[in-house]
This record gives sequence, C-alpha cells and structure tokens, in this order.
Amino acid sequence: MTEMRLVVVGAAGRMGRMLIKAVAETEECRLVGAIERKGSDAVGHDAGLLAGTGLLDVIVTEDPLPVFAQADGVLDFTAPAATTAFAALAAQARIVHVIGTTGLQEPDFTKLEAAARHARIVQSGNMSLGVNLLAGLVRKVAATLGEDFDIEILEMHHRHKVDAPSGTALLLGEAAAEGRKISLKERSVRSRDGHTGARNSGDIGFAALRGGSVVGEHTVMFAAQGERLELFHRAEDRGIFARGAVRAALWAFDKKPGYYTMADVLGLNQ
Ligand code: NAP
Repeated sequence: MTEMRLVVVGAAGRMGRMLIKAVAETEECRLVGAIERKGSDAVGHDAGLLAGTGLLDVIVTEDPLPVFAQADGVLDFTAPAATTAFAALAAQARIVHVIGTTGLQEPDFTKLEAAARHARIVQSGNMSLGVNLLAGLVRKVAATLGEDFDIEILEMHHRHKVDAPSGTALLLGEAAAEGRKISLKERSVRSRDGHTGARNSGDIGFAALRGGSVVGEHTVMFAAQGERLELFHRAEDRGIFARGAVRAALWAFDKKPGYYTMADVLGLNQ
C-alpha cells in the first residue's frame, strides 16, 4: 500500500498535537502538512517540535488550499465553522476528511453531506473503539428494555470544553433512540432547571459536568422502579481519539466518496 499523505488542521490544539504524534508513530502514513488559524503563534514552527515528537520538517502554515492539493487526507479536530470550510476544500481536492470536531449543528451537517459527494468524509463525535462498542450495547439494551426504564446520559469533561452535551453523549443518545425507534430530536431533554415538572416517560435526558483535566467520562443509565442498569466508559488518554482518527483515514483511503462513521471503520455496521 502507498504511504498515505496526511495533513493535520488545528495543529496547535490539544487534539492537533496528539494527531501529529499519532501520524508520526504510524508506519502507513506520513505528515505532509500542518495548518493553524491565521495569526496563530504556531505558524512558522515545525509541527513535530510543537507536538513533542522531534523535528518532522513540516512547517505549520495558515493557507490550507496548496497543502490539501498535495495530500491524500486531512485530520480535523477544530471548530464547526472551520470544519465546514475545510470540508469544502477537501471536496475540491477529492481527498479523505476525518472529522472529530463536535458541536456541529444541522446546517453544518448539510454542508458536510454536500462535501461528501466528492470527499470521503468520516465523522464521529468519538473516535475510540470503546465508545463505538458502547453505542452498540446501548442500542441493544434500549431495544430490549421498555419505556419503564428511563434513559439518562451523564458526561464529564475537562474545564476547557466549549460545547455541551458532548459529541459522545449525543452519539450515545442517538444509539439509544435508534434502539427505541424514536427520534432523539423530538425526545431529548438537554437541560433541567427550576420547576420542570415530572419526567415524561420515553424522554432521553442529558446532564453535563465540567472540571479539571477529565479526558471524557460517559454513563448511560437505564433507571426503572427498583433497579438501575448503568453502562460506563472512561477515556484516560486523548491518544485513543487520535489513533482512531488515523485508523479512520487509512480505512477511507481506497473508499468511494461518501459520508462514513466510526461504526463503518470498525465494521460494527455489518
Ligand atoms: P482546542 O485545543 O481548542 O483545539 C482546536 C484547535 O483548532 C485550536 O488550535 C484552534 O485554534 C484551531 N482552529 C480553530 N479554527 C481554526 C481554523 N479556522 N483554522 C485552523 N485552525 C483552527 O480543542 P481540542 O480539545 O483539541 O478539541 C477540538 C475539537 O475536537 C472539539 O470540538 C472537541 O470536542 C473535539 N474532540 C473530539 C473527539 C472525538 O473523538 N471525536 C475527541 C476529543 C475532542 P485557536 O486556538 O486559535 O482557536
């Protein structure tokens, strides 16, 4: 197999640095570009030195277009507005676009779907094997247990996280809704405050905690009268997401343009 040429966007971010490291540690791919926002202090610096891997001879730049033109794929854990712009460029260059960015809204997904006519997009709110397996379990449990089991999803993340509920909590909520054959959009309760009234049977509730350096913890609860089932995942190291993203890029290398998820990459949809 030809070595896959990858670009990391948001190269100076927490995940950007992990992605640079993961690419450098993977034999089947090579870092050919690193992009940061215009005016970032990281521009002009070596991506390897930024990520702590040692010199990689890849300078961080701020203009994605010429870099994408020389690449086979882009790894993107940035912000929704940046991600939709990068997707249009990835479509133009007809390359792979792996998207880990969370907080994407309906109009963003419409733009990503349009880009997926020419790009191979792999998008997931969580790139780890454990969480994607957990989603499969949640789907199954939700399909097995009736509405007398209330579904609540609790997540905790580090103090720097800007969106809530987490992309992973929403991914788990979607899995539960699929299992129950209901629409998450119609049945989710994203926050509770004040006199909310009693809980509606069949709703899927979310709660978010923020603090410290917590990488990511998710509990899906099925609570009934007299008993409660809890499924729990703890991410201990951001490296799991970065390695998952590299695996997704390598998987998508020879695929047709389209919109894929981590479940496709891990073969969980078969
Ligand atoms: P972060 O440290 O804030 O990193 C984001 C980086 O993207 C920053 O360096 C930011 O630059 C850069 N950026 C923003 N807009 C840009 C643009 N237009 N062009 C180039 N670079 C741009 O955040 P993080 O903790 O790494 O998380 C990033 C995203 O990944 C979040 O949405 C997070 O929820 C998500 N995430 C997903 C997974 C998963 O498995 N799917 C796992 C972990 C995190 P500035 O600082 O200058 O804005």
